Amino acid sequence: MRRSTVCKTYLFYISNLTYIFIVQTNYNTTFIIVGPIVHSEKISPLTIIENGLIAVVKGKIVAVENTTANLEKIKEQYSITDDFVYTLGEGEFVMPGLVDTHIHAPQYPNAGLGYDKQLLDWLQIYTFPLEKKYSDLDFATKVYEAIVKKTLANGTTTATYFATIHLSSSEVLADIVARLGQRAFIGKVNMNYDTPEGYGETTEESYQNTEDFIKLLKSQDNDLVMPIITPRFALSCDMELMKKLGDLASQYDVHVQTHISENRGEVAAVAQLYPDCKNYADVYDKAKLLTKKTVLAHGVYLLDDELAVLAARGSSVSHCPNSNTSLKSGLCDFQTDQCWCQSWVGYRYDGICD
Ligand SMILES: [Zn+2]
Repeated sequence: MRRSTVCKTYLFYISNLTYIFIVQTNYNTTFIIVGPIVHSEKISPLTIIENGLIAVVKGKIVAVENTTANLEKIKEQYSITDDFVYTLGEGEFVMPGLVDTHIHAPQYPNAGLGYDKQLLDWLQIYTFPLEKKYSDLDFATKVYEAIVKKTLANGTTTATYFATIHLSSSEVLADIVARLGQRAFIGKVNMNYDTPEGYGETTEESYQNTEDFIKLLKSQDNDLVMPIITPRFALSCDMELMKKLGDLASQYDVHVQTHISENRGEVAAVAQLYPDCKNYADVYDKAKLLTKKTVLAHGVYLLDDELAVLAARGSSVSHCPNSNTSLKSGLCDFQTDQCWCQSWVGYRYDGICD
């Protein structure tokens, strides 16, 4: 039920049977689901099949039908017995799994807190003190297990996670994701500049731990769980580190995620810190962090020049409306940004701020 690229991932969520089917699809199982199917091949409209079927053979979809007319024929063709034909009940339907394009796993305990601050103060007062605790692997295990189970239960079959700066607890998150059967990109966060007491790295530590993390996940030969290079944002990493991370992205052909233009104060601070750069996007572009595999979160205040660069590089923006509202960052002009970024990746949907 999955294929090798993000946009063709089909781990299905069934309204009250999520785990059954997700687990089965990870174990090369064969079955047919009969009932209502809801999906979309583009941003709109939705496609609704009132009573169709999906046949899965050894974990791969072999048939999607708008009716059940060929049910017997498909059962016979793939030797599927009635025991492996699941007919959905009243009110149930099947749909592709949700994809969360930006989520901070360690901030799960802070969900719903901190609405009294805007981004930069919120990071100092709420976020960094919490993330510091993830040097404790028992704490990390407890929270990461909870967030992965929660997102799966809500239908998120793919997530793009920020972890923390800690290599070991980032590995814990990757292990939990793999064990519970979610598809995910896992980012060990990089922070070597203007870091809070007890929560920072040297340039060399940050670079080396990131390379070790990439090597580790790649060695596990699990295409469901992949590393993603994760400089927190341009105010937490200096240009030297960002350039090194850009080199790693190229060397290992891995994805990149970071934040951009989330908050007016942040945008002003970036302009002050990088006077030689034309704008915020130019900072990342100079570090060669803008690639076809880059996801930039927020993008509330992107200028047309910046959107043009993102479009030229093939980079994507993750729209974060809940966070933008909760932290009073501003309202992102989704329509305008989408016109520029053909490769726009989409929404994060839940209530965990960043
Ligand atoms: Zn974020």
